[in-house]
Amino acid sequence: MRIVEQPDIFLREPTTNVKFPLSQEDQALIDQMIETMYHNNGIGLAANQVGYARRMFVMDTTTNKTDPMVFINPVIKKKAHEKLTEEEGCLSCPKKLVDVKRPVYVGLEYYCRHGEEQYKTFYYLSSRVIQHEMDHLEGKLITDLS
Ligand SMILES: [Zn+2]
Repeated sequence: MRIVEQPDIFLREPTTNVKFPLSQEDQALIDQMIETMYHNNGIGLAANQVGYARRMFVMDTTTNKTDPMVFINPVIKKKAHEKLTEEEGCLSCPKKLVDVKRPVYVGLEYYCRHGEEQYKTFYYLSSRVIQHEMDHLEGKLITDLS
């Protein structure tokens, strides 16, 4: 899959919720997103980065890259007061690194690819990636945050 890069206006377009149950095409799209994330050495990828203006993203923050997670219709329900600043890159903003200050944990409500509602608290790197991908779904890029 081709990654949509800045300044493509598509990255700024609104995204819409995914409907359940997922079709076979939706499942295939998720698999392709995971593959594309690994292929580009990313740790997160939002659907609108590969041309689908839908509210989902994939993430794998493990060292072995063996635990891809899928987040559909995600909503941040809780955020830490404590924030940390770290450098972030983005597959849609090649060669750019930006210091971004973000809450150290978030509580996220989302659906898995089987349509089950989930709630989980994510910390540090996972929290950061989730907030980065949520920004994508809102049409926001790290270059807006510097
Ligand atoms: Zn990004």
